[in-house]
Amino acid sequence: MGQGTTKHSLDKGMKLYQEENFAGAISEWSNALKRSSLLLHSGRLNDAMDMCELSMKEAMRVGDRPVQGKCLFTFAEIHRKRKDYERSYPRYESAYSIFVEMGDRMNQLEVLHGMAKTMASLKDFQQALELSEKAAGLALDIGNKFGYLESKTRMVDLYRMLGNDENSRFSDAEVTTVANELELFCGVCGEQIGLIPEGLDPLPCGHLIHSRCVPHLARYTWGRKGRRRPCPSCRARSSGNPLSDRA
Ligand SMILES: [Zn+2]
Ligand SMILES: [Zn+2]
Repeated sequence: MGQGTTKHSLDKGMKLYQEENFAGAISEWSNALKRSSLLLHSGRLNDAMDMCELSMKEAMRVGDRPVQGKCLFTFAEIHRKRKDYERSYPRYESAYSIFVEMGDRMNQLEVLHGMAKTMASLKDFQQALELSEKAAGLALDIGNKFGYLESKTRMVDLYRMLGNDENSRFSDAEVTTVANELELFCGVCGEQIGLIPEGLDPLPCGHLIHSRCVPHLARYTWGRKGRRRPCPSCRARSSGNPLSDRA
C-alpha cells in the first residue's frame, strides 16, 4: 500500500521541482519519507536525496530559510532511514535551529520526534527520553494532541528500557486518555489510527483521517459544486444534520 503512495509522492515532488515549486517539492518528498517501506526503495531514496540537494542549493541561493529547514530535516530523515545516525543527528540540529529562528513550533516538534527516534536507535534511552519530554511539552503548548500522543507513546517504551516501570505505566495511562479524547478512528475507513506509522491528514473540524483515505473523502464528502461537506465522523454523530460549514 505505502509503496505506491511513496512512489507517487516522489514523482510528484520531481514534477513540482521542475516547475520551480521548491517548497511544494520538499513537502511532497517529506511526505514520501514519512510513509512506510522506504528501505525497500533505496533506489528512489537516492533520487530523493539528489533532488533534495538541488532544492537545498536553490533555497540557499535565494535565502529561503523555511525550505532550507525542510531540506535539512529531509536529509536527516533519509540518513536516519539508512541508519546513518552520525549524519542524521547534526542535520536535525541545524533544521531545529532554523525552525526556532523562524518561530515555527510545528516543525520544531517534527524535528524533536526525529532526534528522539535517532537517540533511541543509538540506544541512548536517557537522551531519547529527554527529547521526547521536550516534544511532549511543545506539543501541549501548541495544542497538538497527536504530537503529544506520539511523544508519550515513545516514552512508555523508553521508561521501560530505563527500568522505570512506574513512569512507564503513568505514561501509558496518559496515552490511553488522550487516544480516547481524540477518537482515534479514521472516519473514512473506520480503522484505528496510530497503530502503525502512516500519513494522517487533519480535517478542518480537527478529526484525523488516513492520508491514503483522502481520495475517498474527496469523492464522497467533498460535495458537488465544490462545497465542502462535514467530515464522516461529524456527519455520523449529527446523523445527517451537518454542523454546517465551519471551514
Ligand atoms: Zn482511513
Ligand atoms: Zn469531523
